[in-house]
Amino acid sequence: MHVAVLEEPIREVQVVRNYVDGEWVESAGEMRGVTNPATGRVIAQVPLSSGSEAATAVRSALSAFPQWRSTPPAARVRCLFRLKELLEENFEVISRIQTQEHGKVIDESRGETRRGIENIEVACGIPSLMMGYNLEDVAVGMDEYAVYRPLGVFGIIAPFNFPFMVPLWSAPYAVAAGNCVVIKPSDEAPLSQTKLTELVEEAGFPPGVWNVVNGREEVVTALLDDPGVAGITFVGSSRVARLIYERCGAAGKRCLANGAAKNFIVVMPDCEVDNTVVALMSSFFGNTGQRCLAGANLVIVGDDRFYRRFVDRVVDAASRIVVGYGLDEGVQMGPLKGPDKKQRVTGLIESGVAQGARLLLDGRSPRIQGDYPDTCFLGPTVFDNVTPDMRIAREEIFGPVMSIMRAADLDEAVALANASEFGNAAAVFTTSGKTARNFQYRVAAGNIGINVGIAAPMAFFPFGGMKDSFFGVLHAQGREIIRFFTDVQVVIQRWF
Ligand code: NAD
Repeated sequence: MHVAVLEEPIREVQVVRNYVDGEWVESAGEMRGVTNPATGRVIAQVPLSSGSEAATAVRSALSAFPQWRSTPPAARVRCLFRLKELLEENFEVISRIQTQEHGKVIDESRGETRRGIENIEVACGIPSLMMGYNLEDVAVGMDEYAVYRPLGVFGIIAPFNFPFMVPLWSAPYAVAAGNCVVIKPSDEAPLSQTKLTELVEEAGFPPGVWNVVNGREEVVTALLDDPGVAGITFVGSSRVARLIYERCGAAGKRCLANGAAKNFIVVMPDCEVDNTVVALMSSFFGNTGQRCLAGANLVIVGDDRFYRRFVDRVVDAASRIVVGYGLDEGVQMGPLKGPDKKQRVTGLIESGVAQGARLLLDGRSPRIQGDYPDTCFLGPTVFDNVTPDMRIAREEIFGPVMSIMRAADLDEAVALANASEFGNAAAVFTTSGKTARNFQYRVAAGNIGINVGIAAPMAFFPFGGMKDSFFGVLHAQGREIIRFFTDVQVVIQRWF
């Protein structure tokens, strides 16, 4: 057996508990195994909590709310400053847990930890960020002012692919603004949230402000149906995002729901080829393609000679990617999260072959570094001759598959991107400022990369998509989410 180069922080099977009202509680729900997809070992048992367990968490959050809301903002963020420090101290452990529970390589996990912490840092600015405004003498003897107020309790629902970071797109801002939260982690990868919650406890948040209930649909449904919940933030597939958005609308709750993606990356013949190829490897194959900002369709503009040479470079670089266990620091790509996911992606690769795309690099029998079971591993896969009607061009694959298409010019490339039902991200590689501006202006996607393959907004910028990639108005992260977590109240006052 190959020994992981880095030590695994989780060595025994962990029994995951819920965190409610400042206490760790065992759920009465059925337990499910959580498997490290690289080693195939079960590393935890996670409960599928009941709706009534979620309701108890909401009641605890509701009772904590009045006092937390009236705690001065500067005092509230002291807990977040402490949490940030604790996360820095535990940075490597948390990152390694992500690799164990999810499969991503350690550097990707470290990147996820860093972005999660950055969101806490931004939320620490709440005393300035949630300030209202005023105007004196709006009429004779009258002043008027606006204040931003927290709403109460929010539910936060996370996907499996960024299990540590995604709840931090919301939770720090929610609590900094004076709300209380109930987080439902992904049941597929709940362990980095458990570690985070241990640090939340150590940071000294009052009981009931930050609650965590593990499980699946039953917990989410309970949060949606509970009149005590003011709103929901959700990140996951578009099917569930739409459902959550509609249910929140019917119940009069606020909703912010990020969905799926199918991102187009356009390569122009004037691009810097070396840098572009490097960026494409990380865009398409980073996180094993399990990223909502991952490249999915590569559209190449240019003559036959440019096309052939560029595609050869891409296939050569992709074929050199080292696949294995992410705690081995020499490894560049980990496994997919589970055998079901591998089966799904393999099925889509088969559909590409059946629909007439040309398979230039087949990842279905990858060479794995180390002695690990091949249950979840898939190597980089590259197709060309892909047409827009094929399933591999239209559906979110969420795996390491690149579908290459050709376009005669930028207009045709933009039209291909805009025909997609999704609009999460798009990127262009070019040395022309005019082309870049043209692309950015015309493509309907929430996140645009210019010579950047993963257009991930920093924590102080909003994170949301367009079309079927996003349901809601205000986006995650930064200033927008502070508006999401607050109501504005306008006061007019006669002073004489
Ligand atoms: P998912 O939709 O299966 O699950 C997301 C969450 O919803 C999980 O916590 C899950 O337990 C819960 N859930 C699942 N089915 C439900 C139902 N019927 N009712 C209520 N809750 C339900 O998504 P996933 O597989 O965990 O994550 C991958 C998806 O997330 C991909 O489509 C990816 O593109 C998307 N994603 C989007 C963004 C973004 O910012 N747009 C970011 C990360 C991931």
